[in-house]
Amino acid sequence: MAAPAAALTSRRARAQGPRVAVIGAGAFGGWTALELVRRGARVTLVDAWGPGNVRASSGGETRVIRAGYGSRAVYTRMAVRALALWRAHDERFGRGFFRTTGALWMFGKDDGFGKASLATLRAERVAMDELSPAVAQRRWPQIDFTGITSILVEPGAGYLLARRACEHVVERVVAEGGEYRQAAVASPVRMTGALTSLPVTGGAPLSADVFVFACGPWLGSLFPDVVGKHVTPTRQDVFYFGTPAGDARFTEDAMPVWVDFGSRLIYGIPGNANRGFKVADDTAGPVFDPTTGQRDVTAAGVKAAGAFLARRFPALATAPLLGSEVCQYEASPDSNYIIDRHPAASNVWIVGGGSGHGFKMGPAMGELVASLVTGQAQPDPFFSLARFAKPRGTAAQEKWS
Ligand SMILES: Cc1cc2nc3c(=O)[nH]c(=O)nc-3n(C[C@H](O)[C@H](O)[C@H](O)COP(=O)(O)OP(=O)(O)OC[C@H]3O[C@@H](n4cnc5c(N)ncnc54)[C@H](O)[C@@H]3O)c2cc1C
Repeated sequence: MAAPAAALTSRRARAQGPRVAVIGAGAFGGWTALELVRRGARVTLVDAWGPGNVRASSGGETRVIRAGYGSRAVYTRMAVRALALWRAHDERFGRGFFRTTGALWMFGKDDGFGKASLATLRAERVAMDELSPAVAQRRWPQIDFTGITSILVEPGAGYLLARRACEHVVERVVAEGGEYRQAAVASPVRMTGALTSLPVTGGAPLSADVFVFACGPWLGSLFPDVVGKHVTPTRQDVFYFGTPAGDARFTEDAMPVWVDFGSRLIYGIPGNANRGFKVADDTAGPVFDPTTGQRDVTAAGVKAAGAFLARRFPALATAPLLGSEVCQYEASPDSNYIIDRHPAASNVWIVGGGSGHGFKMGPAMGELVASLVTGQAQPDPFFSLARFAKPRGTAAQEKWS
């Protein structure tokens, strides 16, 4: 039940913490704003087009959540925390944003990522089961496991209702005493010492003690000097295919979220909130402009997705395309996140570089950034901007292994 207006006004008036402006109401900014409100900060959250808008990287219908991250325990631990926070949020608000379906990992010749994930998850005491292809074939006859040599199942994984969760997080920010403004911060942002106020396109300037920029694929153009190409938007096509009427084999009750590590990494979500059987290729697409880019999929992309379906899910060989989305990864050079102070302004934080795997982390990211902003934690060099002076490996290696 919503708090009465008088209670909210007094909650806002009682808050004594710093005035924090969070720019961007996607997965990273929305959860950061909510956590800061809960810690007593006076928060103004702004977004140019609204939470979970269709241009935002968080604006898709669904996103996978899993803790398997190869050998990168930093992300496994963050995902474990995020899984717990998503569950707690659903228990408290009854919205059902997190659907536990489990995740099925299928490996062809190279199962290095699977072996590393298994070791890391076991060390972190997260359940992960190994299955033989023969056992998996009996359990999921709707999947053709030809060419698959090893299989892992992460039972606690699943998917999230992405854009709807973003909207709800902003509702909570406001309900718990923060402010939300639909406004665009003028770009680029030039820094000359500590920032006190930001120009807003067509509106009053935004004043605060601390600024958090969580602007996803726009971070590079907002900060061409310090972020620039370190956040590169790449075009990613997502397809939703229609299953036969009444056919329960491709619903989330019958099969988990799946990831196919073949020559390309293809993944999908069954059921997918009744939007169709989701299929997407994780390979980074061409550079894309998140503001002006046309979001219509290519015929070649539809054909490739259909060919994959015919091979791995033969009963869907002639499935019609019901819908599609063109989104963008906000890719950092090593696929690791950026969580750092602006080098020229200690009261400005830059949070992004989700690189195709950020959505699930939203609530854990919110906790982390709130701790940094309130001085309860120090930035981790792993997520620093300075690391780009010494690249640590290729995006593909880092993201999935
Ligand atoms: C197709 C696809 C599939 C993905 N699958 C997964 C997955 O399965 N699991 C997973 O964990 N992650 C996944 N990701 C990645 C994940 O969605 C992103 O990493 C994450 O959503 C990024 O969130 P963000 O808050 O950093 O950015 P965004 O969601 O883009 O939010 C940034 C916000 O900033 C606002 N903004 C920008 N500029 C301004 C300005 N000047 N003034 C005011 N507001 C501004 C925008 O309107 C936007 O709402 C996927 C991404 C894509 C594209």
